[in-house]
Amino acid sequence: MAEPFIPFALPEIGEEEIAEVVDSLRSGWVTTGPKARRFEQDFAAFLGDPALHCVAVNSATAGLHLALEALGIGPGDEVITTTHTFTATAEVVRYMGADVKLVDIDPATLNIDPAAVQAAVGPRTKAIMPVHYAGLAADMGAIGDIARQHGLHVVEDAAHALPTTQGGRLVGTLDSAATVFSFYANKTITTGEGGMLVTRDAALAKRAQVMRLHGMNRDAFDRFTAKVPSWYYEIVAPGFKYNLTDIAASLGLHQLKKAHAFQARRAEIAARYDAGLRGLPVITPPTGPAGDMHAWHLYVLRLADGAPLGRDALIEGLFAAGIGCSVHYIPLHLQPYWRERYALQPAQFPHSQHAYERMLSLPLYTRMTNADVDRVIATLHRLLA
Ligand SMILES: *Cc1c(COP(=O)(O)O)cnc(C)c1O
Repeated sequence: MAEPFIPFALPEIGEEEIAEVVDSLRSGWVTTGPKARRFEQDFAAFLGDPALHCVAVNSATAGLHLALEALGIGPGDEVITTTHTFTATAEVVRYMGADVKLVDIDPATLNIDPAAVQAAVGPRTKAIMPVHYAGLAADMGAIGDIARQHGLHVVEDAAHALPTTQGGRLVGTLDSAATVFSFYANKTITTGEGGMLVTRDAALAKRAQVMRLHGMNRDAFDRFTAKVPSWYYEIVAPGFKYNLTDIAASLGLHQLKKAHAFQARRAEIAARYDAGLRGLPVITPPTGPAGDMHAWHLYVLRLADGAPLGRDALIEGLFAAGIGCSVHYIPLHLQPYWRERYALQPAQFPHSQHAYERMLSLPLYTRMTNADVDRVIATLHRLLA
């Protein structure tokens, strides 16, 4: 009998999450309300900085869009980000009518290369959007220095980075204009779909709160639960429909409580892969300085020179053995829209291109057993022997 399929990713939803969702359904309040607000408060407490404002949204893409909107990024402006990311990081720049300047990664970390950022800064540059790739923090010290030197905003795409630290500080509490987390189904915690915009800038938070719900100066929960009945509201801008529902926040309240335990299990699995894959013609994922936390959203393996088969064949072999894998990412410079709009060539991004051709993401999720991990390791030994 064939062994059960090991998927690439799987959420861990407990009875607490299910009971909380049922409680919302029974309460009569299913859209944005008390639980979305509590999720924002709990998120600020999780990050441990009383100066932070947290704005819950229905995706990280929405949060990134709201951050750029609040910063006034627009036509004629340019925003620098990594080619080695998901298209959401860059597409929000185009939503604002601004242009994207893609840069290469540092092959040692697979994160955006600060030297490439420095070289890409021009007269139109307004912001830098680093991505904490796979859950390893980008070099925020160097990026912050470049931003200060040129008067640029920094918006962190922290979709992979809950919880991640750099220099002992959690991503979300660093010195950026805004940091945005994702609670998509395969992320380190999930609300099905969801995201959180985090900022120390009260005006940015206020603008994002207004723009996440139609540009309305009071949200539905305020209006319907005020002590004095209030039907009156004002539309101050053509806003969006980006609010997080209480049904989704119900999941988030309990997922957040488990975030550190989830991270510990993910780190254990990554360490088991590292040890088990020793001696194979592979490059195991980069890690940060000792003492810093890696969220381990992804375990990205690269084939070394001399590996007996290529990446595509390896993924096929793993799939035939009942093991799901993925590739993070097909770099943006290879995607038709980005390639054609900015006339991009792989030679402009040698490190991303080289890594992409050799990389695959192994299964990594908290419900994986050690036996599952060992089966992936044994299959890789068989295929790469
Ligand atoms: C998942 C992801 C996003 C988008 O998150 P959503 O919540 O699905 O909008 C953005 N950037 C990166 C790097 C991601 O992995």
